[in-house]
Amino acid sequence: MPHHDLVIIGSGSGNSLLIPELDGLDVAIVEGGTFGGTCLNVGCIPTKMFVLPADRVVDAADAHRLGVTFAERTVDWPGIRDRIFGRIDPISAGGEAYRRSQEHTTLYRAHATFTGERRLALSTGEELTADRVVVAAGSHPVGLDVDGLRAPDPEHGVHTSDTVMRLDALPPRMAVIGGGFVACELAHVFSALGVAVTQVQRGPTLLRHHEVEVAQRYTEVARHHYDLRLSTTPTSAQRVGDVWRIGLDGPGGPSHVEAEVVLLAVGRVPNTDRLDPAAGGLGVHDDGRLVVDEQLRTTSPGVWALGDVSSAHQLKHVANHEARIVAHNLAVDVGRLAGEPRTTDDRPVPHAVFGHPQVAAFGPTAAELNEAGTPFVTATQAVGDVAYGWALEDTTGLLTIHADPTGLILAAHAIGPHASTLIQPLVQAASFGQRAIDVARGQYWIHPALAEVVENALLGLPLPDPA
Ligand SMILES: Cc1cc2nc3c(=O)[nH]c(=O)nc-3n(C[C@H](O)[C@H](O)[C@H](O)COP(=O)(O)OP(=O)(O)OC[C@H]3O[C@@H](n4cnc5c(N)ncnc54)[C@H](O)[C@@H]3O)c2cc1C
Repeated sequence: MPHHDLVIIGSGSGNSLLIPELDGLDVAIVEGGTFGGTCLNVGCIPTKMFVLPADRVVDAADAHRLGVTFAERTVDWPGIRDRIFGRIDPISAGGEAYRRSQEHTTLYRAHATFTGERRLALSTGEELTADRVVVAAGSHPVGLDVDGLRAPDPEHGVHTSDTVMRLDALPPRMAVIGGGFVACELAHVFSALGVAVTQVQRGPTLLRHHEVEVAQRYTEVARHHYDLRLSTTPTSAQRVGDVWRIGLDGPGGPSHVEAEVVLLAVGRVPNTDRLDPAAGGLGVHDDGRLVVDEQLRTTSPGVWALGDVSSAHQLKHVANHEARIVAHNLAVDVGRLAGEPRTTDDRPVPHAVFGHPQVAAFGPTAAELNEAGTPFVTATQAVGDVAYGWALEDTTGLLTIHADPTGLILAAHAIGPHASTLIQPLVQAASFGQRAIDVARGQYWIHPALAEVVENALLGLPLPDPA
């Protein structure tokens, strides 16, 4: 039975663990899916590459408000799809070839399950043991509790984000089930590219975990672009010929939607359900995440975990940060680095929704602050009220900042053009403990740039004047 110094389960963020300090260790990577993981192959990167042409379509259609009109769109779906995956697939293949070429690294193309402490059975029939194991196994999309929609079935038109971006042809109609960021980004993409999208969301707004006004504004914009069914749940699904007829229960009573393609985007769960963590001595939270301590050690000695399989945030920048911590801690553990193990911290975790418009946020909403009894002050700046917003003729964008009574920034919630970039100075301020007035007045803000939204929101916070 092969024994390795280190076995890494998952080649997404797990693939970035092999820092120079670990050179020469006998390392095995076990990958049961596409090399490179979710972000590269089916997540962050392809979705954003599809969002860009979709944004161009919506912006062109909207340009008449600026006095410019364009010809009707033509969409070359195979061209878009093949350009995107023509760039991504070679990166995955190149990464795999590189790992195969390394003298001290073994790549097992198999699914792993624990059979004991640091002992794994592979789907190829092999068994492995290791001195150290890192579980970087990610998450997978879930289905609905409705016959026909319990699991993806791409052959019959039921997709998840794992397969929908590689469709042979755009369908005439698509039912997007879900109201979170994956559902919103892909509803935007397919509707802009010409598919008649119906998005079905069980809550009263899209993006319901966001600041109320942001979620409401996003929902209103989406409603203008495609058919949106809110407070509505799928109750049945039948396929007649090539068409799915999905029964719905909503505010107006029963209804239905018909579509050639159904996109299930109702959430993701950690891949612990296919790992038998208990056999390896790994504890699991009620929601399926592996239990880890602040050094990202699991409950089993010599086993660490990172990313979606253990993190409360299903975000690539969090998985990357955790990979840096685990890599350091492995190097300390094997004696290649002096010093103490690193730990996770409570820095603010930002995220963005690359829909139309963009949404970006970090920190609690006003409702969450109120519920926790946290004292705070707040300010909202409309994008349309700064000079660049006039140029954009923007009517929906805004930035809300919550700060504590001393001016420390607790949260920011933005909707509008470039929201994902706009909030970064606020992430920085919150991460480094900078006060609102210092951030606003301690630097020049380029005039008349969009960033004046941030400056004005900071100055709008009702805080006492500094002495
Ligand atoms: C459509 C979509 C869009 C997204 N957009 C963004 C975004 O814009 N920004 C952002 O920050 N995040 C985004 N995310 C989330 C982001 O992709 C994930 O948080 C991140 O990729 C998780 O990385 P990971 O290393 O934990 O897991 P993964 O990258 O999923 O890697 C896990 C790997 O482990 C393999 N594996 C699993 N179980 C086993 C096993 N038992 N044996 C062997 N191999 C196994 C899997 O095949 C996979 O390759 C998006 C996700 C999706 C689905």
